[in-house]
Amino acid sequence: MTELSAPQVTVIGAGLAGAEAAWQAAQAGAEVILYEMRPASTTLLHRTDLPGELVGTNSLGVGVPEKASGLLKQELRQLDSLVLRCADDSVVSSTHELLVDRTAMAGAITDSIAAHPRIELRREEVTELPDTEPLIVATGPLTSQPLARSVYRRLREPYRFFYQASAPVVSLSSICERGLLPGSPRDPEDETGLNCLLDESAFDAFCAAVAAAQTTLPAEHAREEMVDRHLPIEAMVHDPHLLRRGPMNPGRLMDPDSGQRPAAIVRLLPEDAESELWRLSEMATGLLPEEQEQVFGMIPGLEGLEIVRPGQIARSVCLCAPAFLARSGRVRNGEGLFLVGGLIGTADYVEAAATGWLAGVNAARWAQGQQPVLFPRETMLAALMNRLTGSNPDTFAPQLVNFGMLAAVPGDSDLSKEERRQVQIERSRAAVAEFVAEPGPEPSG
Ligand SMILES: Cc1cc2nc3c(=O)[nH]c(=O)nc-3n(C[C@H](O)[C@H](O)[C@H](O)COP(=O)(O)OP(=O)(O)OC[C@H]3O[C@@H](n4cnc5c(N)ncnc54)[C@H](O)[C@@H]3O)c2cc1C
Repeated sequence: MTELSAPQVTVIGAGLAGAEAAWQAAQAGAEVILYEMRPASTTLLHRTDLPGELVGTNSLGVGVPEKASGLLKQELRQLDSLVLRCADDSVVSSTHELLVDRTAMAGAITDSIAAHPRIELRREEVTELPDTEPLIVATGPLTSQPLARSVYRRLREPYRFFYQASAPVVSLSSICERGLLPGSPRDPEDETGLNCLLDESAFDAFCAAVAAAQTTLPAEHAREEMVDRHLPIEAMVHDPHLLRRGPMNPGRLMDPDSGQRPAAIVRLLPEDAESELWRLSEMATGLLPEEQEQVFGMIPGLEGLEIVRPGQIARSVCLCAPAFLARSGRVRNGEGLFLVGGLIGTADYVEAAATGWLAGVNAARWAQGQQPVLFPRETMLAALMNRLTGSNPDTFAPQLVNFGMLAAVPGDSDLSKEERRQVQIERSRAAVAEFVAEPGPEPSG
């Protein structure tokens, strides 16, 4: 008797979306070939050859389900997401945000992939889209150029370009911890972070230094080419109120010496379990590395700091997903071609993993001749896919989730905002539980 061979799924790119997709396809019974170009070729931002490396902050956003990103995480945990499991196993702090040790998290993802009997990791850059199906393209916002051109030839969709920046990471030994105030601008009792306090003159001097420093952000960049969440400080410094109200907002923190609210703060958050590395939270920048040490070294408490990982700006790409993507993650009329993650305009890590989850499951189903599944409509996951596939293509930009995107609660006019949110959270939990028990196909996708 001839033995039937297992269905095969090919995934290109072992970032957050690709690692999740490969894992879910393998869990669904497919043999997976996962291509990753690092270390032979790399991107401007990746530092290691580990699958699932975080290129920006070490924060996966708010943890509580009362916030949209927290609910998305709750749903992915229920769905046994690889990325969420490895993030939870690498937590540095989860008081408000889920802060992880980025090396531990990527290490856990790498080990899981290496140990999976149905995943083969090939360290190779893919330069042409192969004809094989099903195929998941998960090469992210920094997709290598030859492959980006090949995707264009297949889809005939133009790319959109964005500048995004990451924040510097400094070593504990180089900062004066004693001068820094523990607490968070939202909650002074939350001691996860440390804060440098700036008075008016220190803030003015800092702004002047940022404005005078050399940056890698091209002078001719357009405002619409910037991603708000990862805006470099040099793009805000022309209006210091943007910094005061945004990344340098002291919130409820008070200077214990003067009893006054400081003019501005710079917040440091831990990068690793030992708290030896700290990120200058929200200080995304593309200033030249030597300028960064000088400019941030002017901040009280950071004199003489050593930057171990400078902030960087990257010009990233995304495709206009609503023009070609179905809610199953598959390209409309694209047979077995799936696109996921930053390449189709997810803005953050968890959103990228969510699209990877769906494409992984549906690619395995496609290979087995089964109908695709769609996320239950009551969930933030479904809201994300609706936004990615149903937005106006003319104004499409990288997508984050919010509660306004969720399906309405019947008869909600009598409920307060908090009550409505609790109903939505419960409804999502029940819908995902039912989906896990019986992930039946949906008619269109
Ligand atoms: C400067 C910057 C800062 C950011 N900061 C944050 C942040 O703070 N928080 C946040 O949530 N998000 C941030 N993002 C967005 C974040 O990068 C994405 O949300 C997330 O990484 C997308 O996951 P992905 O798997 O699609 O892409 P990636 O994580 O980039 O993974 C893509 C993988 O594909 C590989 N690859 C690329 N081309 C090929 C090829 N031809 N062949 C084989 N392999 C290939 C790459 O090496 C990489 O491993 C930032 C992005 C940038 C550019």
